[in-house]
Order: sequence, then C-alpha cells, then structure tokens
Amino acid sequence: MTIPAATHLTGAPAFKAAQTQAARAHLAFVESVGEGSSIGLYLHIPFCEKKCPYCDFNTYAGMGAHFDATVDALCAELARWAAPLRDRTVATLFVGGGTPTVLSSAQLERLFAAIHSHVQLAPDAEISCEANPGTVDRAKFHTLRALGVNRLSLGVQSFDAQELAFLGRIHDVADVYSAVESARAAGFDNLNLDFIFGLPGQEPATFARTLDAALALQTEHLSLYSLIVEEETPLSHWVQSGRVQAPDDDLAADLYELSMERLGAAGYAQYEVSNWARRQAGEPPSPLLPQRASRHNLLYWLNGEYLGVGPGAHSHLRSAPTEPGTARRSRRWGNRKPVPGYVKRIAAGASVEAFAEEPDARTAMGETMMVGLRLLHHGVPHAHFATLHGSDLRALFAAEIAELGAQGLLLCSEERLQLTRRGLLLGNQVFARFLPETSEPVAPVGGDAAPLANPQAAPPPPLPS
Ligand code: SF4
Repeated sequence: MTIPAATHLTGAPAFKAAQTQAARAHLAFVESVGEGSSIGLYLHIPFCEKKCPYCDFNTYAGMGAHFDATVDALCAELARWAAPLRDRTVATLFVGGGTPTVLSSAQLERLFAAIHSHVQLAPDAEISCEANPGTVDRAKFHTLRALGVNRLSLGVQSFDAQELAFLGRIHDVADVYSAVESARAAGFDNLNLDFIFGLPGQEPATFARTLDAALALQTEHLSLYSLIVEEETPLSHWVQSGRVQAPDDDLAADLYELSMERLGAAGYAQYEVSNWARRQAGEPPSPLLPQRASRHNLLYWLNGEYLGVGPGAHSHLRSAPTEPGTARRSRRWGNRKPVPGYVKRIAAGASVEAFAEEPDARTAMGETMMVGLRLLHHGVPHAHFATLHGSDLRALFAAEIAELGAQGLLLCSEERLQLTRRGLLLGNQVFARFLPETSEPVAPVGGDAAPLANPQAAPPPPLPS
C-alpha cells in the first residue's frame, strides 16, 4: 500500500502551493506515520515536588534521594534499545511525567547524552519537555534549550488562585507569568499551556477569566482537559465522603463550549478534542492539522509507533514491513510502575515489562478509528487507514458509518471519515462503536509471531559496565 498522497491530507492543492516550509515539514511528518521508519520516544520522569490530589499518574513526591539512580536506570533502559532501533529514526521526543524539571541540570544533561548515544534523533525532531511553573527558573530553561528542547508544555491549570489551591498546585499565578517570560527569554518559540476545567462549583465567569489570561499570553498551543475523579486519589475520597461535590457533567459541557467559542474567535484552531494551536502567519485559515499541533501527540492519534522508557511508560511498535499491502502487526506493552523495583531490575539486567499484548487485526483497526476520530478535521483518511491495515475502512465499517452518519455524528467524504460538531459532543459514544465487542484473546508475551519485541522480554542484553 502506498503512502497517501499529499492531497489526501491537505484537501486542496492550492493550499499546498501556498504553504510555508514549516507547513511542508509538518505534512511530511504526518505522511511518514505508518511508513515504518519514524517513531516517537517518550521518557517518563516519575517525580513531582508534591502530589496533586486529583492525579493518578505514576509519579511520586519526596523521592529526591532516588533521582540519580532513576536517571541511571533510564539511561540503561535506553541503551537496551540501541540495537533493536538502529534502523529507526526518532521524529519526536517527549520528556514527561511527573515533572521532568524537578531534575537538576546535570541529571537532565546525563539523560540527553544517553538519548543521543543510543537512538537516532531526526535533525528536525520535535523535542518537548513538560514543566511545572513552580519548578523552573531561567537557568533551567536555558539548560533545556541548550539540550535541544524546542517545545515546552507548562502545567498551568488555572489563573485563579483559589482554584490552584483546590487543585493542590505548588505554583501561583505570578509563577506562571514568570515561567512564560523566562521560557521566551531562553528562546522557546513553541509553548503549550495545560488547563483543567469543570472543577466542582467552578463559576463560568472565573473560567472565562482564565481563558482570557491564557489567550493574552499568545502561546502557540493550548490543551484543556475536564477534571476527572480518578479512583484511589485524595479527590475521589473527598467526593465519596461528601467533603467535595462531584464534578458536574453539564457544567463541564458548558465550559467546553465556551472554550471552543473563545479560542476559535482568538485565532486558535481546534484540531483535536482537547487541543488547540494558534495559527501562524501565512497559515491557511482552516488547516486540517495546524502547524503548531503537537507532533508527538499526533503520533498517538494517528496510531503511530512510540517507545516509552521509564517506570510505567507504555510503548507501541509494529513488526517490520513484509509485502506491500500487508498490515504490520502491533505489540503494546507497559513497564513496571514502582520506581525502586524498576531501578533494581534494570541494574540486574532483568525485564521491566509489566504487561504486553498483541492486538488482533480487528482490534488494531478499532484503535486507529478511536484515536483518529479525535482529530476533528483530519479525522481518519481512508488512505492512512489502508496504509496501516491494508483494508478500506468504508467497507469494513459500512454499517457503523451509515448509522452514525444518519444520526449526524459522522461525516464520510471521498478522503476521510471525521466527527461532526454534534459527534464531537458525543465523542465517547461514537468512538466506542468502532471497537470490537469481543477481542481475540491477548497473545502471550514473546509469542512466536512477536513483532519488534521489547528486548527486555527476551533474555536481557548485556548491560554496559
Ligand atoms: S504536577 Fe502533574 S504529574 Fe505531578 S502530581 Fe501534579 S498533576 Fe500529577
């Protein structure tokens, strides 16, 4: 199966001619997903200065004594991948967590030295790092910039002091302004700000002020997520005990619609359910994927390949291409979560894999639909689906497309399948329709036909002395 032609992705050839070099580079990246050579690399830093009460990520506070050993373990895990990934190019690198910026400059430098030693970074790789406005200063940003980081994602969450206190954040509003100013001074021209909405009892007027403050900063990207009460978090206990009221879905829906209006009016293109990118000078008014869309996250939404390194990190790699038109097989796995066990096993040369699965072909197709439909205008191009799975999605999902189309939730054009605005508001119900009701049993780890397997599942390779 050939890679989709550019017109499949841009829609209008006239736009293509007018695109800047940056836009063409972006397009080339999108087209390369599924081709087999480019992957994303995610590094999980499992530490935060303080654990926020709503957070269920694999991240821990008060573990400063473990930083050095964990950085060593991450470097050693990267070394294990040097041989299996020697033919792959890392098109996007994302250092997340947790709060990577709790690490010292020396620790970050060690990590990046290992990355450069063990994987091949594309010359124009998007290199992102998450940062907490409470753990950064100018020197840290200069270090990140010098290491090649070219995109920062700041966890702001709110511009309201009371909301920040409720969320248990370690930063205040002044820290956000200071962090953005320091990032710009260090030379970052690609900034994302993360926000949470739908807090219990949140006033729409307060949230509107947060949106206005965010827009005034003119960052290149904004991500907005509704507050979810995750199990076994302090927030879930507060809700269960009645100390805090449960978030209200109707309020969250109203605030989401408010966000779409305000951000759209301010020139931000919503390209994914929770993500907006500010249009750049000369950028077409309605690009399917704005130039400042997060490339690393696009890999997830395009059901591309990525390697996750660190405690609890998840990975998805496919087998090597065989014959043209033949789908490649997927393997997904996750690392063990607890930090001391991860460090100990890496040091002993043991596997750190906690689970693995090889989705059957039908499940993998459903996954492509579920993640791809989150891209509002891009959706799932028929050519992209055929590249990944060797099938025509219109034939495969004819019944679902007819039914959801008749309900005004999906739009099927000659090029792609995408959500309508109504479909966006009922997204989870639409996505669920594409997953198989029953999947084939999960294949055991290290099965015969294992695609590019986690080397840790096999006898571990020798570790450097
Ligand atoms: S800073 Fe982020 S990763 Fe850390 S505890 Fe808070 S929400 Fe979780």
